[in-house]
Amino acid sequence: AGMDSEYLEIRGLSVSFDGFKAVTDVDLTVLQGDLRFLIGPNGAGKTTLIDAITGLVPATGSAQKSGTELLGKKVHQIARLGVGRTFQTASVFEQLSVLQNLDIAAGAGRSPLSLLRRRKSVLPSIEEALETTGLTALRDKPAGVLAHGQKQWLEIGMLLVQNAAVLLLDEPVAGMSAEEREETGNLLRRIGAERVVVVVEHDMEFMRSFATSVTVLAGGRVLSEGTVEQVQADPKVQEVYLGT
Ligand code: ADP
Repeated sequence: AGMDSEYLEIRGLSVSFDGFKAVTDVDLTVLQGDLRFLIGPNGAGKTTLIDAITGLVPATGSAQKSGTELLGKKVHQIARLGVGRTFQTASVFEQLSVLQNLDIAAGAGRSPLSLLRRRKSVLPSIEEALETTGLTALRDKPAGVLAHGQKQWLEIGMLLVQNAAVLLLDEPVAGMSAEEREETGNLLRRIGAERVVVVVEHDMEFMRSFATSVTVLAGGRVLSEGTVEQVQADPKVQEVYLGT
């Protein structure tokens, strides 16, 4: 990361599927150091918003990473600009070691020649990613034998070695034990200090423990935004969650 702060700035973003508006006119600004949780009922448009930012679905409006427009670019271009995401199911190469997974991620999207040139500079960041994610002792184990939580951490490590400055994480603690959730929260705090982190999450307890700010989506629109306390006290939020 350079000296300039990173940020994600979304303005008037909309996504339609055959005339159905899944996301409507969303504004969202997330600054480096913020651990932003994106919550909302099923079908609120959370995944579609992440899909739009990462180039998987076409969108109108604007989504900028630190001043660089992302909309209209292809998935691999957006990844190379340093916007990384995880999916609900960790996608690691099960037969390859932890280290090999990170190695491949570090080389993703680059030509063999540029990879060769980068080799020396890339390796320390792999060591760093192992340490940050707590996977150093497991570096030579096949990813397939890792516990569920460890696979999620490896996936985050793969984004770190790709130099992702913006991380969009889809339900990172789904299926995790209480201890793994705690470790994941601490990991997100560590990496979030120098990056923009957006966490799509259903686990309200996890959100309360780790979110520094929250955006609530409902019906494809931003319903509420603020601190955990502000959002929880918002009658509009109570209405969509409790139906009162
Ligand atoms: P969330 O992640 O908040 O649960 P989604 O972003 O998955 O919500 O979905 C938002 C809305 O868009 C839902 O009504 C969903 O059915 C619809 N939707 C999502 N993807 C598609 C698609 N590829 N084609 C048509 N409708 C979609």
